[in-house]
Amino acid sequence: MSFPYEAPVSQSLFDRASVVTPGGVNSPVRAFRAVGGTPRFMVSGTGPYLTDADGREYVDLVCSWGPMILGHSHPQVIAAVQEAVARGTSFGTPGAGEVELAEEIVGRIDPVEQVRLVSSGTEATMSAIRLARGFTGRAKVVKFAGCYHGHVDALLAAAGSGVATFGLPDTPGVTGAQAGDTIVLPYNDLEAVRAAFAAHEGEIACVITEASPGNMGVVPPLPGFNQGLKDLCAAHGALYVSDEVMTGFRVSRAGWYGIDGVRPDLMTFGKVMGGGFPAAAFGGRADVMAHLAPAGPVYQAGTLSGNPIATAAGVAQLRLLDEAAYEKVDAVSAELRSLVGEAFTKAGVAHRLQVAGNMFSVFFTDREVTNYDEAKAQESFRFTAFFHSMLEQGVYLPPSAFESWFVSTAHDTRAVERIAAALPAAARAAAEAKA
Ligand code: PLP
Repeated sequence: MSFPYEAPVSQSLFDRASVVTPGGVNSPVRAFRAVGGTPRFMVSGTGPYLTDADGREYVDLVCSWGPMILGHSHPQVIAAVQEAVARGTSFGTPGAGEVELAEEIVGRIDPVEQVRLVSSGTEATMSAIRLARGFTGRAKVVKFAGCYHGHVDALLAAAGSGVATFGLPDTPGVTGAQAGDTIVLPYNDLEAVRAAFAAHEGEIACVITEASPGNMGVVPPLPGFNQGLKDLCAAHGALYVSDEVMTGFRVSRAGWYGIDGVRPDLMTFGKVMGGGFPAAAFGGRADVMAHLAPAGPVYQAGTLSGNPIATAAGVAQLRLLDEAAYEKVDAVSAELRSLVGEAFTKAGVAHRLQVAGNMFSVFFTDREVTNYDEAKAQESFRFTAFFHSMLEQGVYLPPSAFESWFVSTAHDTRAVERIAAALPAAARAAAEAKA
């Protein structure tokens, strides 16, 4: 595929980056390898727009992979950050901001009685699994193919996100010992979970699942799946760990829990709760959390955990996320889905729009996608053509067919109109694409 439009400043930054950083990026999917072309180096963001180093403006449908639910540079979040940064950047002591952020989380999500702050979603899931193992005295962890829980050694097997984008079967550097206690099962298959519990009675510490997966594209749980997981865990003395790093505080005030009401034993959070800064968390039942150091024996720590700037941004963002904000994001998402569906239908492209709250993605197939194998069976080459046409017309999509699209309260009529104007040509490009 050739790319007639140019981004010379991004290209020269990427050339420099590729000398000093592996692949030129600090997180793999950013490199555009799945779609080809030059990754755009962004220099600023305002509301629903990003501006790249070449001075081109894009409507942003990535929102930093989820966090920027109020759009970029929201004045109240920026003010909170400026106020915090003026007081200092890190103290290595407890601070009021940590208490406020923890109270925001506990106040919104009923099953979370206590919460521990960390700096990334990866840390949150890694720590939750350690705690589940420490609490139960068991070693094995069940995860689902296509679910991504960060780059935790034990959880990289059959992971979604970048691992799906690049079709990596496994990751060198993860030893048999690290992955040997991970049981990978097909998503949405309760029978497989039942069979795993029967085969490993008394050995499974927890089942970890994305509350509603967004890392193999959007593949929501079938009715009863999460409840079934919870029930099986309860019946076999294992913990049900719901990873809400992506869905938490995004799809409702209480995340996916606010939609399906299935009560996890432990939950993990990140993205939206940090307001664009590195803040994440895990939390849940008080009796389980009591096993965490210094209250209990399971060790977990972090030099920058609960950083005052990150917590100020997170608190400011969460306090702005009232019911009206979620209604707005849901409405923008619904409008975009209908525009996208209409464009593909008109262009004669087989597609399926899958939705979880206000998260959605397009699969190039005419069948419902319920698991990772079905997600991989789509005609993802069509996405490449679609992506580049949208990019050329000033719409920034996730550079992979296996990622959710994200919108914000800042996506106003003008932004939606720009997307609508770009869709017909991009859908035609998808129709004409060749494998
Ligand atoms: N869990 C889920 C569901 C995610 O989507 C991600 C990141 O995309 C993570 C965990 C890891 O979070 P982080 O990238 O902050 O380490």
